[in-house]
Amino acid sequence: MSDKRIESVKKLFTSQSAKVETNRGEAYYETLFDQCRQRLDALRELPPVSNRIDFKNAIFDEGIDRRDFLKWASATTAMLMLPASFTPLVAEAAELMNRIPVVWIELQDCAGNSEALLRSDGPKIDEIILDIISLEFHETLMAASGHQAEKQLEDAIETFKGKYILFVEGSIPRGIDGYYGTIGAKAETFEEHLLRLANDAAAVVAVGSCATFGGVPAAAPNPTDAVGVMEMVHGKPIINIPACPANPSNMVGVILHYVLTGQIPELDSLLRPKFAFGYRIHDNCERRAHFDAGEFVEEWGDEGAKNNFCLYKMGCKGPMTFNNCSIIRYNEGVNWPVGVGRGCIGCSEPDFWDKYAYERPMANANIKAPTGGVEKTVDEFGLGLLTAAGIGIGIHAAGSAIFGKKSHVEEEA
Ligand code: SF4
Ligand code: SF4
Repeated sequence: MSDKRIESVKKLFTSQSAKVETNRGEAYYETLFDQCRQRLDALRELPPVSNRIDFKNAIFDEGIDRRDFLKWASATTAMLMLPASFTPLVAEAAELMNRIPVVWIELQDCAGNSEALLRSDGPKIDEIILDIISLEFHETLMAASGHQAEKQLEDAIETFKGKYILFVEGSIPRGIDGYYGTIGAKAETFEEHLLRLANDAAAVVAVGSCATFGGVPAAAPNPTDAVGVMEMVHGKPIINIPACPANPSNMVGVILHYVLTGQIPELDSLLRPKFAFGYRIHDNCERRAHFDAGEFVEEWGDEGAKNNFCLYKMGCKGPMTFNNCSIIRYNEGVNWPVGVGRGCIGCSEPDFWDKYAYERPMANANIKAPTGGVEKTVDEFGLGLLTAAGIGIGIHAAGSAIFGKKSHVEEEA
């Protein structure tokens, strides 16, 4: 992300976090600061789960100096809706990301979220952090396959029982007793696989529209009877990071939040972190002034389109959609769908394919506003770190890496 982009992202998030800060009060943040300090001290005492990549070396190898890193930490602190005084803690938490084991599984999906993680050809800090996390199993990124891969997974869940964060990409097909999707030589169904791995996880993070709400596989007529993780997993903390694909910054934000606080972030009623999904696309859209002025694109390629007018009449669902992509954008902040002239299709909302992904205005679509109304914004939300469902300090006592990161695998390939 360019310096200019980091500054504008920071400005937008800071204005929101300042409001949250005012609501919470000084005592709240003092307690939280102490809590995070203790958490980081405890993590620092532990050896890394994977020590093959050193964070500081990795960022310096990429030509990122300390000043750039602190700028990123400052923008990320604002994104997490924390006061600026937390910036050194966030920077420290980034360095300690390798203390938390992560297991990533893919079910009924296109691997688009994994692809989003890897897309950068010039890794910046978010991408480097995703190299640093202790990714103990990821079938798309790992070099092993077949029985060897299965063994790595079994070793990881045994070694880090009750301590790993399980990332799930893809929906779960329930039709024909789950046999639309099986994995491994024993033909374990996706449903059985998910439930077994979720059972020993500290928390489950559903990544992308399919894992959260069923996504495209669940679109009518939903031939495989696909559902999202929260329909299947019960009794575990679940965090939903929807979007197609989920934004890597939000994935990093969730892990960073856990490293920093030992808790999952405060969630909305759809289990989405409020720090990322407490924003309505429409409220931070660069075309909003045209909406307010009644200046719309009426057909593709007209003068309105050439002048970047509002896309509402072409079917933009930004007024109904909660996500921060109009602020942080995609591909290192280069651009986002509305920025390139296509309307938002509401990919971070449930049933988006059936309800939102067609190009006609909401006014013609017989769709009601989300619960709470479309004007309910982050002003009324705010992070409730101390009251968020705690998932404990799920840190490991010891353990060695079962396999290396993307770059390590590439080295071996
Ligand atoms: S383009 Fe979409 S999100 Fe942007 S102002 Fe228009 S309706 Fe709202
Ligand atoms: S603009 Fe809308 S459809 Fe596009 S990524 Fe963001 S939420 Fe999804």
